[in-house]
Amino acid sequence: EESKKNVANLMKEFLPEEIYKILLTAGSLAEEMGYGVYLVGGSIRDLLMRKPSPDIDIVVEGDGIAFAQELSKIINGKVIPHRRFGTAKILIEIEKNGEVKRFSIDIATARTEYYESPAALPKVETSSIKKDLYRRDFTINALAVKLNTKDFGLLLDFFGGQRDIKDKKIRVLHNLSFVEDPTRAIRAIRFSEKLGFKISKHTENLIKLAVKMSIFEKLKGPRLYEELILLLKETLPHYSVKRLADYGLLKILHPSFDEKLFNELVKAHETVQGMELLFLKEKYRKEFIYLVVLLWNLKSHEREEFLKRICAPENVKKQLIENITSAEKALQNFPSEESFLEVYKLLSSLNIETIILMMIYAEEQQKRAISIYLTKLKEIKPLLRGEDLKKLGIQPGPVYKKIFDEILKEKLQGRLLSKEEEIEFVKKFGK
Ligand code: ATP
Repeated sequence: EESKKNVANLMKEFLPEEIYKILLTAGSLAEEMGYGVYLVGGSIRDLLMRKPSPDIDIVVEGDGIAFAQELSKIINGKVIPHRRFGTAKILIEIEKNGEVKRFSIDIATARTEYYESPAALPKVETSSIKKDLYRRDFTINALAVKLNTKDFGLLLDFFGGQRDIKDKKIRVLHNLSFVEDPTRAIRAIRFSEKLGFKISKHTENLIKLAVKMSIFEKLKGPRLYEELILLLKETLPHYSVKRLADYGLLKILHPSFDEKLFNELVKAHETVQGMELLFLKEKYRKEFIYLVVLLWNLKSHEREEFLKRICAPENVKKQLIENITSAEKALQNFPSEESFLEVYKLLSSLNIETIILMMIYAEEQQKRAISIYLTKLKEIKPLLRGEDLKKLGIQPGPVYKKIFDEILKEKLQGRLLSKEEEIEFVKKFGK
């Protein structure tokens, strides 16, 4: 049965002050509008684990969008409503000590979802908080805290979420959970890896049963992409993919995925960690590197099909395929002698993701050359500009490129360290 625990003090201690204040405000607005309003989802789990939580999810027994609009007026936010789902996002900027902090609050109308078919989009109907929580993935994510002033901080635990947090267990709420939504199997592994929790025996059996019943054949669409990316992003990729394999889910992602991937993901992970030590200026997303490692050994039409099936966004799909193709080509054309100029020419036109991919699959000698490129050669360029050449009386034309190439070649070998030396070189070069 439901507990009578009050966690207002925990909230005050572990939530940012601004958020705590907004929740108090939401509670008094709830009383005014006659709605039941609750903080739900991962933030309660994090709160009970004494961890800071990135997102604030609120559920309203009533008109969620209307509530969001009223709340937003009071706290000076901006509302983005999604009428179809009865949800809204409030964006707020809070200035504190001259610094602007941005928050977003997700507000939903309490609902039960029924599924037209597994893995399809839900239809929405109004219902109460208990039913809303019952449609959630795991007990540890199905806790709520009431915000209404009268009961502010009251913890609602209908399904044993507190006990499972204490026991470090991932447990579904009912036997049809994976039939309703197969992506939950990937989520189970993600939370297990991320939180260091065990998937309960019964929940494990339900995953295995669902695999046997071919439920996961229906595993496709944008949710699959999102969960796969989150899995690769938030956990150690080789462990997570090993776990997918243990449950028979790896073959479902693609029939040719097998154990060979683990070693490659280990290499990818080591490479990504190595890159962190270089403090590269360019940003890249490591989860995309890992996703590409999954795709690397597929034939090119299989890659296309896979990315299409998981509904990777069009721009992501294009970029990933382009990176694979460029990396493969660059590895094939890798200069065999140790010429810094050739290495520079090959790598300077490639984006950082492509270079990291090359690093994963390169041979030792190539790896060394790529490292030298990243740590030394990458930043080298002629100090002279076109206008400097003009001042030296050289007519603009194709010869400029030739001159810059020659300067670069010298610099890549440690010569021509100053602008003066470059000028001297150019003067001689003309003769
Ligand atoms: P994280 O801290 O990793 O973001 P989270 O619990 O906030 O964890 P989200 O993916 O942001 O995870 O989901 C928010 C909440 O929505 C979850 O706590 C869960 O209650 C619910 N939820 C999300 N995805 C599903 C799903 N596939 N099936 C059921 N409930 C889900």
